[in-house]
Amino acid sequence: MIFRIRLFSLILFLLFSTSCKDRNKISLQINAKSAMNYVQKIAQIAPRYSGHPNNAKCANLIAQIATANGADVKLDKFNAPTPYGKVEFQNVIATIKGQSEKFIIIGSHFDTKKIDSIPLFQGANDGASSTGLLLELIRTINRSKIKPYYSLRFIFFDGEECFLKYSNNDGLYGSRHYATIIKEDKSSELCKGVVICDMIGDKELKITVPSGCDAGLTKELFDVAKQNGYGKYFAWSSFDIIDDHTPFKKIGLPTVNLIDFNYGKHNRYWHTKADTVDKLSEKSLKIVGDVVLDFIINFEF
Ligand SMILES: [Zn+2]
Repeated sequence: MIFRIRLFSLILFLLFSTSCKDRNKISLQINAKSAMNYVQKIAQIAPRYSGHPNNAKCANLIAQIATANGADVKLDKFNAPTPYGKVEFQNVIATIKGQSEKFIIIGSHFDTKKIDSIPLFQGANDGASSTGLLLELIRTINRSKIKPYYSLRFIFFDGEECFLKYSNNDGLYGSRHYATIIKEDKSSELCKGVVICDMIGDKELKITVPSGCDAGLTKELFDVAKQNGYGKYFAWSSFDIIDDHTPFKKIGLPTVNLIDFNYGKHNRYWHTKADTVDKLSEKSLKIVGDVVLDFIINFEF
């Protein structure tokens, strides 16, 4: 009899604990075709380096798509000195309100590298892939009608690429600008984490997180990748890298940078005219998209 009661309690406990866990967990998946469609639309606006008329055109398209998909969108225009003189930049900030004021930043740069020898540089992987993916994340969350716990700030950064050489005054214009704003107005205190996506569309996907990223946040993300059956596509890199997460790391926020910095053999497609949509795959967008989506809507820090 005692055994039976204990067994009964155990079953009750198991049922209860499982249902509690399942109640909070939201399962959502992106539509990879739709993601690729957005990537193509962005890549077609070529080139779109900061200061080029196409750059503003691209920012407006992002704003239009995010607004049509239910996000609260702001265009933040600012000027900054560059090695080529003053340039106007614009970040696009698309917010999905959560139950909490606390928020997560999900970022991608949409600008292309200014390469004078490639007048129509598409930056299909380097700029367009992550930008299209973020738009698909917004669309998927909006369609699902869920209200995530944390507010989600999707930020499309301008000016990630440097004109000459990365320094405190060249490159990362949009992310440096935004990190300064949230530090100065102290809203960074409400930020739970920063997830940056960059070059995530390569057919031969292997995301390698720069060694300087936050260990705890990155481990959480790797766990989510494993739960989705995609663990093998994510690993730590043995070296650090400068990207849009860097300014947020500098103001003390936990950051994870999802980047596949081996694009073609020995990274040979990177910053070349070969960075075109045919090098990308829907499957890669889906792998990164589903992992990031699961991570940001079920995030429990
Ligand atoms: Zn680049």
